This record gives sequence, structure tokens and C-alpha cells, in this order.
Amino acid sequence: MDREKVLKIAEAIVNSKKTIVLTGAGISTESGIPDFRSPGGIWTRFDPALMDADILYQNPSYFYSKALPMLEFFKDINNARPSPAHLILADMEREGLISSVITQNIDSLHTKAGSKKVYEVHGNLKEAHCMSCGKKTDFNCLVEKVKAGNIPPECDSCGGILRPSVILFGDRLPECFASAVEEVKSCELLFIIGSSLEVAPVNSLPYLARSYIILNRDRTSYDKGAYIVLNEKAGDGLKEIYNEIKKLQTK
Ligand code: NAD
Repeated sequence: MDREKVLKIAEAIVNSKKTIVLTGAGISTESGIPDFRSPGGIWTRFDPALMDADILYQNPSYFYSKALPMLEFFKDINNARPSPAHLILADMEREGLISSVITQNIDSLHTKAGSKKVYEVHGNLKEAHCMSCGKKTDFNCLVEKVKAGNIPPECDSCGGILRPSVILFGDRLPECFASAVEEVKSCELLFIIGSSLEVAPVNSLPYLARSYIILNRDRTSYDKGAYIVLNEKAGDGLKEIYNEIKKLQTK
């Protein structure tokens, strides 16, 4: 590991009055959840068309006739446990080193790890809702209906069609995205962990930050604008950075 970069990141976090973390699928690969683009990732398992809101709205019967393997995979994600990286971020929030976490992930692992201020800008897998009346239901209930051949799955209240409450391509982002934008505009440092930064509009957030740091296994097209880029695994990198912060605090 590049010790000089680790030290520079630790110093930047200690000296920043407000640091916000932005995470992507890469922080959860260490919890056993594949990301999108790596070999063996979600793109190689499921048709990207199944992540498209237009297909869901225009042809729900087609969407649900194909979606069961993906829905069952999503259901399994709900059983995942936080990785050391999620736990370190929760500790960092408790200690006032970071203010909040903005995540593109739908796995709820930051809240499971104990992070309090989390903006889940792509939703999560706890709920489903009716596309007509908006009534919420448990995500597992939607999966059970599809499994039982109820295609498309219907709302018990109004007979409308149910959908997962996660953001699909083409969906509008939830209201919390506006709050996330304000958080980034007001921070001194954006710390990006485990994201290819290829998904819009989240990938506009680095442009709004005064300065940003990237901790990611692979290179991204945002590297040249970053204050520091550390190409390491999230768990390994964060552990070293956190240790370095502790040393700086006891000096
Ligand atoms: P992505 O798949 O496009 O990129 C993931 C990045 O993480 C890659 O650049 C890869 O190099 C890096 N990475 C992989 N393992 C890593 C590790 N152990 N440590 C550090 N970096 C690692 O993911 P994205 O940028 O988050 O965008 C994809 C979209 O996919 C998001 O919108 C998200 O909602 C969704 N998604 C979510 C989950 C989840 O909830 N866990 C999983 C897959 C996809």
C-alpha cells in the first residue's frame, strides 16, 4: 500500500471541517454482493433491460416474466452483513470524522453497520410499492407473488401493479438526492469509495465538491480531478487510513 497516500488522506480527513462519503457497489463486494461491471458482476448475470423503468412501466407482464431470478438475487442481498469498511465508516461518523454517507447501494449495509445519516439515493430493497396508489408493501411479498405466478404482481388494495422501491434506469431519484446535493455543496471534502462513477446523476456530485478523494480498486475517469486516488480494496484502504487518523489524533 502507498503509505504516503494513506497519510495524505488521513490528514485531509482530520483537517476537513466537513467530510461526506459517497459509496458504490465496490464497498459491498467484501460483503459478498457482486458489483455491476467487474467480471462475474451483475451485468454478466442479468439482462440490463430488467433494470429499466421504461420496460417495467410499458410492459410489466414482460418485465415480471423475466425478472424472478433477479428479484430472488435482490432478496438474498437483504441477508448480507456489513463488511469491515462499512463498520469503519460507522465508527468514523460516531467520532465526528465524517458527517454522512451518500450511497448508491440498495443493500442497506451502511444502516446495518450503524451509520446514522445515510442518503440511499437509489432506494433500498426493504420495500415494494403500488405504481397506481403508492401503497407500500414488503419487498419479499412482491417476490412471493411473482414466484406464485401472479404476473404482474398486483396491489392488495387497488389491483394496481407492484414494483420494487429501488431506482431503475430512467426513474427519477428520490427526494433525498436533493439533500445529498446540498450536503456535497457544503462539504470541504468528498471521500468516494468503491464506485466506477459511471452512473448519472450521482456522478455529477464530485463536480460539486470543493475537493474529492477516491478509494477504489480500479481506475475511474474521475481520477485526474481527484486530490488523491488510492487504488486499493475498500476494507484494506479504510483500515490503514483509520489507523493513520488515530495516530494523528494522539500526536
Ligand atoms: P460499479 O459496479 O459500476 O463499480 C464498482 C467499482 O467498485 C469498480 O470501479 C471496482 O473497481 C470497484 N470495486 C470492486 N470491488 C472493490 C473493493 N473490494 N474495494 C474497492 N473498490 C472495489 O458500481 P457503482 O459505481 O456503484 O454503480 C453501479 C450501480 O449499481 C449503482 O447505481 C448501485 O445502485 C448499483 N448496485 C448496487 C449494489 C449494492 O447495493 N451492493 C450492487 C451492484 C450494483
